[in-house]
Amino acid sequence: MYQLFLSLVTVSSVQAASHGYSWAYSGAHGEKTWPTNYGFCGGVYQSPLDFHENILQYDSSLRPIKLFGYDVATAESFTVSNNGHSVSVTLVPTMKIEIEPFHYTASQLHLHWGHKNNPKGSEHCIEGRRFPAEVHVVHYNSDKYTDITKATEAADGLAVLGILIEVGSFNPSFENILSHLNSIKYKDQSIQIAGFNVQELFPKRLDEYFRYEGSLTTPPCNPSVLWTVFRNPVLISEAQLFALETTLYCTDRNSSEPIQMTNNYRQLQAHGDRLVSVSFREGVVLTVALACGLGVLVVLVVTCVLIHRKRSRKPADNKNIAYVQAAGVEENTSKV
Ligand SMILES: [Zn+2]
Repeated sequence: MYQLFLSLVTVSSVQAASHGYSWAYSGAHGEKTWPTNYGFCGGVYQSPLDFHENILQYDSSLRPIKLFGYDVATAESFTVSNNGHSVSVTLVPTMKIEIEPFHYTASQLHLHWGHKNNPKGSEHCIEGRRFPAEVHVVHYNSDKYTDITKATEAADGLAVLGILIEVGSFNPSFENILSHLNSIKYKDQSIQIAGFNVQELFPKRLDEYFRYEGSLTTPPCNPSVLWTVFRNPVLISEAQLFALETTLYCTDRNSSEPIQMTNNYRQLQAHGDRLVSVSFREGVVLTVALACGLGVLVVLVVTCVLIHRKRSRKPADNKNIAYVQAAGVEENTSKV
């Protein structure tokens, strides 16, 4: 208990001391250095995860995600900005989701992507497969907390929706964001854009998803996120992905050494003792059935081997008994 207290104190003092510390995905401030300056990054319940079958469990209580106020009128506006780590779109507080028992208010969305020569930059992976890119729509628990800052400090403070991106046909909804990248090429640049229906960025099926308790995937890595990652990816065109991978810079306009914003995804984290709940049966049930079948098979094989051993040992034992007890036993065995 004392050790836990001590580590909490250490974590908070390190975080206080590191206020304003710059971080990056590679180089001198790359993610290996994050835990030094942001204690949570080296802690438990970290994200992202690879969703592989032996940590998945079907949960029949998981309901489809409900979106409220996501169809934002064009009269309203969003701010699209380059924060040096990603492109971020501030959302409006009338956008909410419900994940029982709480309502969560939308705060912002941003993206993670790879590099034009290796276009694999999603954070979450499925069965070891990394997708070209991923959208995160960040919400905070507005039933319990007054603002996102307070919510980020709490274990049940945030709910992030993850949308995996695959290459396919042109996606006009994503163009609401991607067509403005040229206006925010450099860090700290931003632009106002007209409201649009943010639900159009989502896959059609809001009932099929992975669910687990994890963290922010960027410093300070607070373990305060209820993650929902949709099973089905959305499509954007190759040209749209290319624009995402090549337009932005982590550095500001006046930098003498401009750094392109690429591979802005965190490495996979250990799942530890966590399981990932899934809302869909297909695939998972089959896995469980196979595992049960395999278990029964193993029991049968072991039983057969034991029976076989017992049988093959019997004559030897009899011989042994016969040898030790000599004539008397020979008499007995002759009666069998
Ligand atoms: Zn993110």
